[in-house]
Amino acid sequence: MRRLQDRVTVVTGAGSGIGLATVRRFAEEGARVVCVDLDEATGTKAADEVGGLFVQADVTDEDDVARVFRTAFETYGSVDVAFNNAGISPPDDDSILETGLDAWRRVQEVNLTSVYLCCKHAIPYMQRQGKGSIVNTASFVAVMGSATSQISYTASKGGVLAMSRELGVQFAREGIRVNALCPGPVNTPLLQELFAKDPERAQRRLVHIPLGRFAEASEIAAAVAFLASDDASFITGSQFLVDGGISGA
Ligand code: NAD
Repeated sequence: MRRLQDRVTVVTGAGSGIGLATVRRFAEEGARVVCVDLDEATGTKAADEVGGLFVQADVTDEDDVARVFRTAFETYGSVDVAFNNAGISPPDDDSILETGLDAWRRVQEVNLTSVYLCCKHAIPYMQRQGKGSIVNTASFVAVMGSATSQISYTASKGGVLAMSRELGVQFAREGIRVNALCPGPVNTPLLQELFAKDPERAQRRLVHIPLGRFAEASEIAAAVAFLASDDASFITGSQFLVDGGISGA
């Protein structure tokens, strides 16, 4: 399928996990891919693999984010898709009684403020074109909460969900669709790192997933490609769950 033929797509967190799988899927679907990551080595590798462009950027920095979308536009002539996906896992003990203000703020910065900045700087290009698709990575925990005490992480993802709904409604008449992607647990370095610290947590999570396994990043990327494409032309402001049934169990 080449549903994104010649579309200019920006992917943040492109060097690893869900971002990397999406870079590959977007390229398979014919897109021009602008790979954005803080990590120069992995971001460059991802871009080289698909013949895309790497822009090293910290998505919490407004100047960096503005440069990302300006570079995409100046290089390829449009900004058709923004996949705002970079994020970090919760601090070690993320219960409300333990999480300090600095840790809380850092998670909001990377997981939520970054999405605000990316939307803010992608939308003006999409307005000029009269169309565009934005997919923001939230999480299943934004919909159902988490029994494993992730207060800063869950709150940040809840913010992504609410912001996506708000923007989806607000910009619908301008042809810009905005959706929140809500993955369940996905087998990526972020999850592996979390479970390495607390192996029992992996087992506890697994029993609650009706499909009985964690997702592969490529399965999440398939949903992102769908939301980014015209196949999803009537979907905006949605919380798009790709969670193996966990939120329905
Ligand atoms: P990952 O750790 O494999 O990849 C995250 C990427 O983001 C890395 O390449 C990292 O360098 C980059 N990044 C981090 N901070 C950045 C910054 N300030 N600026 C630019 N790039 C930055 O993680 P992943 O599992 O692929 O997660 C991707 C997204 O999916 C995150 O938002 C995460 O919260 C979300 N998510 C993950 C899971 C899961 O189980 N893995 C489930 C639900 C949601």
